[in-house]
Amino acid sequence: MDNFIKEALEYDRLDSLKEFRKEFFCENDSVIYLDGNSLGKLPLAAGETVNRVVAEQWGERMIRSWNEGWWDMPLRAASMISEIIGARDSEVIVCDSTSINLYKLAAAALNLKSDRRKIISESTNFPTDLYILQGLADKLDKGHKIVLAESRDGLGIDYSEIESILDNDTALVVLTLVSYRSAQMHNMKKINDLAHKFGALVIWDLCHAAGAVPVDLNHSGADMAVGCTYKYLNCGPGSPSFLYVREDLQKELDSPIWGWFGDKTPFEFKLEYTPSESVKKYMAGTSGILSMCTIEPALEIVTRAGMESIREKSIRMTEFFIRIYNEVLKDAGYKLGSPVNPDIRGSHISLKHSEAYRISKALIDSGNGDYIVIPDYRPPDNLRFGFAPLYNTYSEIVVAAAELLRIIRDNEIFSYTSDMDAVT
Ligand SMILES: *Cc1c(COP(=O)(O)O)cnc(C)c1O
Repeated sequence: MDNFIKEALEYDRLDSLKEFRKEFFCENDSVIYLDGNSLGKLPLAAGETVNRVVAEQWGERMIRSWNEGWWDMPLRAASMISEIIGARDSEVIVCDSTSINLYKLAAAALNLKSDRRKIISESTNFPTDLYILQGLADKLDKGHKIVLAESRDGLGIDYSEIESILDNDTALVVLTLVSYRSAQMHNMKKINDLAHKFGALVIWDLCHAAGAVPVDLNHSGADMAVGCTYKYLNCGPGSPSFLYVREDLQKELDSPIWGWFGDKTPFEFKLEYTPSESVKKYMAGTSGILSMCTIEPALEIVTRAGMESIREKSIRMTEFFIRIYNEVLKDAGYKLGSPVNPDIRGSHISLKHSEAYRISKALIDSGNGDYIVIPDYRPPDNLRFGFAPLYNTYSEIVVAAAELLRIIRDNEIFSYTSDMDAVT
């Protein structure tokens, strides 16, 4: 490990993003946080904003705050997200959760393609996406069939697997750009082109991609997308999601939830709904201001750092971790659960181990070591390590790897139960 420690210190010294770490809450350097792919760290500016919004805006200004910045907050936040995901401002809105936004867009898409019955997704998809589609098909009760592309290598789905199940009866394809377990990444443009050839629409789930890899929705010809802001975008636990609908589709694509925030003139309080002519028509009800107000300060950091620099460091970090895996972790019984090729990999790495859950418990508990390492566990056997270039260091990667070795060497896992916590 000594050679890796020296190497990491040198990388940290040369790291062009190293100053950004100071903008995040880092109380204790002995806590190695490698779960930014599930919940990004707290940007100090976001915390200050919440305090200010509570005290000054809610407290002092009360209802007047709606005209002093709250009403346009979902549009301002969306404008910052559009830049990160390669969309126009007029195509993105911030509201609700990813699950709900997926339901709205999938319902709209099936309504638009009402003569088709097939919905395609992937067996490695994040479960909520599949549940949403199952529930929607059940509610519509029109005989929609969900067909899942199967993974050959257990890591992800390749293009040919999607190609083999697409046909002229396909209404909708729902894929996750970066797989939540393996971090395998699709080629968005190729799949959009393929689906469009068959007249199908595509919804992309960008949860593990936004803020982790460059995304260019416009350039790739994407129809629709959803994604969360609390992972690599660091906007806080349960911060609202974003949705994207390509401009020329917005006229034909109606939200299934007609709420007053999606109405053209909500404050006329008329009795009949008229959808907004803008992307706001995909909103439903009142914005959650306290959880939305973190988005602008958090994204300001991402934008200032730039997605290209973030991606460059992300690749260096994951490559470094894979090298350590090849040289030392493999022999300790870990198995790589992510693609070796960085071009098709997001910003996290999965290591597989039959005792993955107990290893994650041992890492998170301070145990006998000097460090706490926080990854997460995803069944059946994945330990996920998220590398967030804005605040993680190369030295942290070496510490995490050393802990992974120590836990096996000391048989430490056997002091932990395999009973699962509510949140893993
Ligand atoms: C995290 C994640 C979600 C979460 O959806 P919520 O509605 O925010 O709970 C959805 N899809 C994917 C791919 C995810 O990684």
